[in-house]
Amino acid sequence: MHSYSLIAPAKINLYLEIVGDRPDGYHELVMILQSIDLVDRVDLVPIDTQEIRIYCQHPQVPLDGSNLAYRAAQLMSQTYPDTFANYGGVAITIHKNIPVAAGLAGGSTDAAAVLVGINQMWKLGLTQPELQVLAAKIGSDIPFCVSGGTAIATGRGEKLDAIAALSKLWVVLAKYQNLAVSTAWAYQTYRQQFASSYISDPESVDSRASKVHSGPLVDAIAHKNGESIGKLLHNDLEKVVLPEFPQVDRLCEAMRSAGGLGTMMSGSGPTVFTLCETESQAQAIKQKLKEKISDPDLEFWVAQLSGNGIQVGSTRS
Ligand code: ATP
Repeated sequence: MHSYSLIAPAKINLYLEIVGDRPDGYHELVMILQSIDLVDRVDLVPIDTQEIRIYCQHPQVPLDGSNLAYRAAQLMSQTYPDTFANYGGVAITIHKNIPVAAGLAGGSTDAAAVLVGINQMWKLGLTQPELQVLAAKIGSDIPFCVSGGTAIATGRGEKLDAIAALSKLWVVLAKYQNLAVSTAWAYQTYRQQFASSYISDPESVDSRASKVHSGPLVDAIAHKNGESIGKLLHNDLEKVVLPEFPQVDRLCEAMRSAGGLGTMMSGSGPTVFTLCETESQAQAIKQKLKEKISDPDLEFWVAQLSGNGIQVGSTRS
C-alpha cells in the first residue's frame, strides 16, 4: 500500500454574514471563502495495526481523538469498517505551518486532507461531492477545504457554490502568536449581543443568500476587480472580537493605514489580513508593519490566493 503526502491550504473569509439561528444550534451563515497558499503538509502512512496515530510537533495541536485529522480518519474507518479491517490503520503526521486557532481553518484543512488521502489509500473511489458529504459530518468548513478555490458557503458553511477562482491577488496576514480566539466563543457572544436582529423564516434566509450571490462583491470577484473586492470585505464577527481584543483592533487599524486594497479579520480571528494587488506590494506592507509595530509576538505571512483545495503532493510505495 502507498503512503501519501497531501498539501492542505488555509482559507480566509472575504465575507462573513451571520443571518440567524438554526434548529440544530448552529448559525445560518452566508460566507465567501477563499483558499490561500499558506499550507500544512499532511503525511499518511499505512500501519499494520487497526489504529489511528497522530504526530505533530506544534504544541497547540492535540494528539488525541479531538484532533480533527484523527476524527476524519475515524469517520472513514467507521463508514468503511470492512476496508479498515482489510487495509489496517494509518499514521498521520501534520507538518503545521498554518497558525492554530487563527480563523484560517487549519484543523479543518488537515481533516480534509485525511479524507482525500484515505480515499486514495483505500481505493474507495469516492467523488469530491461524496467526500464533502462525509466532511460536513465533522466540521462546517471541511467541505470547502476539500475543494478549495473561491466559493459562496451557506447553511452552517457546508453548502457550497463555487465561483470564478481568484488567484492573482496576494495577502499579508498578521497574528499575535500568543493570542487565540475560540470560534465557539465568538459565535456565542455574537448571539448574546445580536440575536434580536436574527432572521428566522426560511424564505428570508434564502433571500439573504441570493442577495450575496447577485451582489457587488461576487460581481467584483467575477471581474477580478481587486480594488472593489478590497472595499467590499465584510465580517460580522469583527463586531464582537475587536471590542474584546483591542490589540487586534489596533492591528487592523495599523494594517489599514499601511496601504493595500482592504483589511479585515479572517473568520473568528484573531488573524488579520490585507489584500494586495502584487507580491511586492504585500512584502512592502509587511516590512512597513514590522517597522511600525515592533512586537516579537506579532507574526506575519505573505501568501497568494489559490484556486486549489487539497492536493496530493506525492505518493510512495
Ligand atoms: P476555523 O477557522 O475553522 O474556525 P481555526 O483556524 O480558528 O478554525 P484551528 O486552527 O482549526 O482553528 O484550531 C482550533 C482548535 O482546534 C485548536 O485550538 C486545537 O485545539 C483544535 N484542533 C484540532 N485539530 C487540529 C488540527 N489538526 N490543527 C490545529 N488545531 C486543531
